Amino acid sequence: MEIILRNLTEDYVVMMLDQLAGTLDCCKCSQCRLDICSYALNRLKPKYVVSTQGELMAKLCEFDGQFEASVMSEITKAASVIKKYPRHKVDEAGNIIEP
Ligand SMILES: [Zn+2]
Repeated sequence: MEIILRNLTEDYVVMMLDQLAGTLDCCKCSQCRLDICSYALNRLKPKYVVSTQGELMAKLCEFDGQFEASVMSEITKAASVIKKYPRHKVDEAGNIIEP
């Protein structure tokens, strides 16, 4: 079985962002989505593990409520910052150009 190095915080942020996407008042384009991830990840503690793919999901479930709360709070902060300063490009008609 393949063994990999992985930052579980990253997986968790991406997962939470998907769950929260509907409630966040911000752009959903791929540029903004990744900007939100990087903003939040730079402010959260990384949690690196060496594991097999199959074990990763089980490890993701081990995060406690405190960690979940800080991830949610950083994603919410990130969304409001990215909304104010979006880096996506827009065309003359004001439509977002996906990178
Ligand atoms: Zn956007």
